[in-house]
Amino acid sequence: MSSSNVPSPRRKSVGVKVGPVMIGGGAPIVVQSMTNTDTANELATVQQVEQLALAGSELVRITVNTKEAAQAVPGIRARLDDIGCHVPLVGDFHFNGHKLLTAYPDCAQALAKYRINPGNVGHGKKRDEQFSILIEMACKYDKPVRIGVNWGSLDPEMLARIMDENARSSDPLGASQVMHKALITSALESAAKAEEIGLGRDHIVLSCKVSGVQDLIAVYGELAEQCEYALHLGLTEAGMGSKGIVASTAALSVLLFRGIGDTIRISLTPEPGGDRAREVIVAQEILQTMGLRAFVPLVASCPGCGRTSSTYFQELAESIQLYVREQMIVWREQYEGVENMSLAVMGCVVNGPGESKHADIGISLPGSGETPVAPVFVDGQKTVTLKGDHIADEFRAIVDEYVRTKYRKKTAHA
Ligand code: SF4
Repeated sequence: MSSSNVPSPRRKSVGVKVGPVMIGGGAPIVVQSMTNTDTANELATVQQVEQLALAGSELVRITVNTKEAAQAVPGIRARLDDIGCHVPLVGDFHFNGHKLLTAYPDCAQALAKYRINPGNVGHGKKRDEQFSILIEMACKYDKPVRIGVNWGSLDPEMLARIMDENARSSDPLGASQVMHKALITSALESAAKAEEIGLGRDHIVLSCKVSGVQDLIAVYGELAEQCEYALHLGLTEAGMGSKGIVASTAALSVLLFRGIGDTIRISLTPEPGGDRAREVIVAQEILQTMGLRAFVPLVASCPGCGRTSSTYFQELAESIQLYVREQMIVWREQYEGVENMSLAVMGCVVNGPGESKHADIGISLPGSGETPVAPVFVDGQKTVTLKGDHIADEFRAIVDEYVRTKYRKKTAHA
């Protein structure tokens, strides 16, 4: 195994267009997310889709589980377009998806992609029939499909078949390997069936979600070797808070480093009253820290220690990170490459300047017993020493000036 610190080349996959967004085929890894509003509540869903899109979600999935939800989809699309939010919508379908897509053509048309779980499309003979209808609808409306297998809802007949085959084998697999095989078989057999029905390979994305980090790495490693379909990565039921973030990051980082994955979603359980857009920010930060994409200038800051005399330094680090994230909505439109800018906010002037010099702009705040001054480094050179009550405002002004002078202005589209 290579000990290189450079990620493996991206696995080759067939590109899939979802509206204007390309998944796979060498395109940048796409960040996506999902709403948790009742889709039938048009207004609430529009607001949350917009919130996720503004945070940087390039695709947003909504559940389409009832006729009321299906009826609401065209209105949601129209309202989003009216407010200038053109993020493609993905419809999540389960047992009644075949009926909803058939009965509500405007819904089928308004969605940019359908997500189908082969374990949840129906039972027995109906499973094949209903799966076929879903795929025929995708062909009719020229929409791509994600065949999203989930370990919690594997097709029971297929699982029984694989377990039987395994029991008869002279070299039977262990329980978790049987589960891996069942997930991969379900995804690949469903994709082959979709192709037989007429859906092109360039209209198929696969996912095999599990909740265990090691299982996810093993399953996607095998899946990636066995096919050339574009892959959607995500750890299902990742959890809440730091647990969900750490588990998702651990699993996805290993796969991304190996060049596997064309689109990612971080399935965080939001804290009560928490911000749904956090899953988008975490997805972006994983891709950015892995060196795969840049979205927003990152602020490096020291952990603080006995030298930091107040919370001022933590507050400044937080306010600068927030400031650049807010400003990026405008900067992104105006300046080329500004997302690559690096900032550092350090807690003392003993060790701070070293780190500050490595960032494009760095500031070291005074620690305990230090003279109340804050040296600022720009491109490795000390440019000014801030003091007094307006250090935060003055530092933000330095950041603004840097963006204005260092990054090329984008030319307006013709
Ligand atoms: S930079 Fe200074 S305040 Fe921050 S952790 Fe290091 S020594 Fe402590």
